[in-house]
Amino acid sequence: MPERPLRILFVSAEVVPFAKVGGLADVAGALPKALHRLGHDVRVAMPRYGRIDPDRFGLKTVLPDLAVPMDTITEHVAIQETRIASEVPIYMVDSPRYFNRENIYGYNDDGERFILFCRATLEMLKVFNWAPDIIHCNDWHTAIIPNWLATIYRQEPLFRETATVYTIHNLAYQGIFGYRILEIAGVAEQGFLYPAIAELANVVDLMGRGILFADAITTVSPRYAQEILTPEYGERLDHLLRERQDRLFGILNGIDVDEFNPATDRYIHTQFDVESLDKRVENKLALQEQMHLVVNPAIPLVGMISRLTDQKGFDLLASILQPLVEQDIQFVLLGTGDQHYHEIFQNFAARYPRQASVSLTFNAELAQRIYAGCDIFLMPSRFEPCGLGQMIAMRYGAIPVVRSTGGLADTVHEYDPATDSGEGFAFTRYDPWALFAAVVRALEVYRFKDVWRRLMEHDMLLDHSWTASAEQYVAVYHKALAFRRGDRQ
Ligand code: ADP
Repeated sequence: MPERPLRILFVSAEVVPFAKVGGLADVAGALPKALHRLGHDVRVAMPRYGRIDPDRFGLKTVLPDLAVPMDTITEHVAIQETRIASEVPIYMVDSPRYFNRENIYGYNDDGERFILFCRATLEMLKVFNWAPDIIHCNDWHTAIIPNWLATIYRQEPLFRETATVYTIHNLAYQGIFGYRILEIAGVAEQGFLYPAIAELANVVDLMGRGILFADAITTVSPRYAQEILTPEYGERLDHLLRERQDRLFGILNGIDVDEFNPATDRYIHTQFDVESLDKRVENKLALQEQMHLVVNPAIPLVGMISRLTDQKGFDLLASILQPLVEQDIQFVLLGTGDQHYHEIFQNFAARYPRQASVSLTFNAELAQRIYAGCDIFLMPSRFEPCGLGQMIAMRYGAIPVVRSTGGLADTVHEYDPATDSGEGFAFTRYDPWALFAAVVRALEVYRFKDVWRRLMEHDMLLDHSWTASAEQYVAVYHKALAFRRGDRQ
């Protein structure tokens, strides 16, 4: 029997193209579209940040005045509507007092801001009389919703059949607040939830509440779903996650294969695809020239595009820079982040100006040129919930060298020339020499041009589109509905 289309409300603090800080925005922009293509009635809710241009996005006010209970007072907001790709409705909660600010996050009242957003979202559904089968919440900003559906909205007829799914995009950001936030959210009688966990005994951890109350929980790769059950990766929530393990699923993010396509990319020097792979080298030569490196197609070019933080393995890289340059490679880095790493890599590039280039900016155009021009792409992350860089690199024919963690472990396996299996080069121990050895293995294979070419072709043809992931989310939605029915019996 074919499954009936689901009504899905996707709730997120960031959605591409309206507002983006990190990968959450990419997922929120792409997954609803992919679900829509599978035939589901999917709608998205997000805050109406002041800097979202109403004319550019054709925002229309659909509810001029919506009353939202907040503790003992009532806030008044408006709801505006637009669409992504002219198909998926986006509802924006408009409250200038809370959201007409320079940035998306970073304010003392962030907890209150996102409580208001979530509460307005549920109240809006009541006015629309639109009963979702699934409310899909993302990261701490929306984690209060599963808590509410189990408490103050428990008797609400509209949500009688509604199940919640909660997705963890990065466990490192949990939304930790004091007791006051419970009063604002109207759930103070529950108090703190984890008296047994010392660090959490006297705080409100919104991420923890999402995990505790959602009917199903997902995170952005199967490996990360396993890793966060351990104290090493669990960010103090591993105990709670282990208790909810039967409801936790790992689903890899996709990439937007229309946006990241070397055959149509207008930023790169020469467009190419797997049929015209000989043309790719033009991008390498152009990149060498642009970065003032020695222009020579035979020198292996190693690229990296990343936030410069400890998470991304820069401490490993920093301690093997000298032995790396002795391998007669070139190195191109694009990224911003910790000052400490800015200095290390700037000094390095100053010492080897013809061999290394370091661009400490955010530059989407240069990023595409690096993906299209480098031979080897590095991601030696300490942890990586999913990782997009390695998937984009493969689509552009750059071979990844990764640490086997999280989504990197799921997408990049060690290449074995004997069987032609694997996508790149991978190491496990978080150790500079393990990274160095993986780069050396890559360089060894690079010497054999026909083998390297086969590997590029293999990686370029992999399917990292959202379609497969969206189907897996639908399967989890059905599980969430079944859990919800089971819990109520
Ligand atoms: P994370 O979300 O942890 O930063 P991901 O690999 O999931 O890491 O996604 C990072 C994305 O941001 C990639 O698409 C990468 O190309 C892009 N990116 C990172 N730093 C820069 C930069 N300085 N300039 C342009 N793009 C960048």
